[in-house]
Amino acid sequence: MIDFTIPPELQDVRARVAAFVRDEVLAVEPDVDSTNFDESLADLRARARKAGLWNPHLPPKWGGLGLGALGMALVSQELGVSALASLALNCMAPDEGNMHLLLHAASEEQKARYLRPLADGSVRSCFAMTERDVASSDPTQLRTTAKQDGEGWVLNGEKWFISGANGAAFAIVVAMTEDDPDVDPRSRYSLFLVEGDNPGWEIVREIPVMGTEGPGGHCEVRLNDCRVGPAALMGRRGEGFALSQVRLGPARLAHAMRWIGVAQRALDIATQRAISREAFGKQLARHEAVAWMLADSGIDLYAARLMVLHAAWKIESGQQFKQEVAIVKVFVAEMLGQIVDRAIQICGSLGYSGDLPLERFYRDARAARIYDGPSEVHRMLIARNLEKAMATEGTTKAATGGLA
Ligand SMILES: Cc1cc2nc3c(=O)[nH]c(=O)nc-3n(C[C@H](O)[C@H](O)[C@H](O)COP(=O)(O)OP(=O)(O)OC[C@H]3O[C@@H](n4cnc5c(N)ncnc54)[C@H](O)[C@@H]3O)c2cc1C
Repeated sequence: MIDFTIPPELQDVRARVAAFVRDEVLAVEPDVDSTNFDESLADLRARARKAGLWNPHLPPKWGGLGLGALGMALVSQELGVSALASLALNCMAPDEGNMHLLLHAASEEQKARYLRPLADGSVRSCFAMTERDVASSDPTQLRTTAKQDGEGWVLNGEKWFISGANGAAFAIVVAMTEDDPDVDPRSRYSLFLVEGDNPGWEIVREIPVMGTEGPGGHCEVRLNDCRVGPAALMGRRGEGFALSQVRLGPARLAHAMRWIGVAQRALDIATQRAISREAFGKQLARHEAVAWMLADSGIDLYAARLMVLHAAWKIESGQQFKQEVAIVKVFVAEMLGQIVDRAIQICGSLGYSGDLPLERFYRDARAARIYDGPSEVHRMLIARNLEKAMATEGTTKAATGGLA
């Protein structure tokens, strides 16, 4: 029998996180704005530490709760309800992914220098891969270079849409270390730890975007003869893509987990509205067109939740997870947009107003189909894996979550 019972220790932490989000985060969310953001967040963080919920994703050695992918899936679905919640527990993008990457690939010295303050919540970081002048869905085109200079390196290039870059203490930068065209493109890039006060690291601007900006914005950055020592190289030379995948796989799932929280909140708002308002002599929810919108959102949300839990279980049990995470990335990003869109429709003019968070969810949801790989690129990978499974096993079952 497949047992969906949540282990008691995970149930406990999930329930405590849900209560924290309800009682501490949502209680203050309407009053938080740009004028009081820093102090409100500091206060929420102090409360999260006191509640024993700080760093759910990190091992105890790093001051965390040591939750694996499955535990984080359960917790993040609660946190997704408010953008402030992940920040309060110190497990927000891009820092959460960077912490995982540092844990996996950094030397002990690098961990002490970069992971420790990140885990303490005293600094922010960013991950710098995308470039404006090349289609960065295909990262083999990235142009930023790192040339060896004595023992150290000199980095040159331009990055953009680097979330959190303004004010980040350091960046993990993807740069080309082999310009020999005969070298396999996937082994030509390496990762470098670049400090925010390096004179060669220039924040050009925070790019205006349609959704929420978050601390540090989404920035255009220039690397101008940016000199770093030999200790700035993370992992081995040429491992940049392989290590980025270590970060991006679980990070994509973490986004999906949070999107489920957003979608759940949107559906709750829509359902409450549909049962509390009347039109043409009956509740909105009694009109079939509205009931079907609610039902479709319920169906999508259930499928998304199970998909995320299954992919998290594959990660945690050490199985191949690329296909499942790609499917999750596409499905959950798209269902988020649809559920929020239906919720706005059901709430009518109120849904379109700034009095509800739905219009913000709608703007933020649009980006979900683009960052960490556009839907089309994931679909391309999913289709290739279907073909591969068919060619090797005579069925696509293994590439569609087939259990046997
Ligand atoms: C809010 C936000 C935050 C971000 N944060 C970061 C960050 O912190 N660090 C970072 O490095 N990057 C970040 N990004 C960048 C993001 O990861 C890239 O935008 C994404 O990888 C796509 O690259 P691109 O924008 O260059 O699009 P392009 O590669 O130019 O692609 C444009 C479009 O072409 C289509 N397309 C591309 N390839 C294919 C294909 N094979 N088949 C079919 N269609 C295709 C898709 O529709 C795609 O949307 C962020 C982006 C956003 C929107």
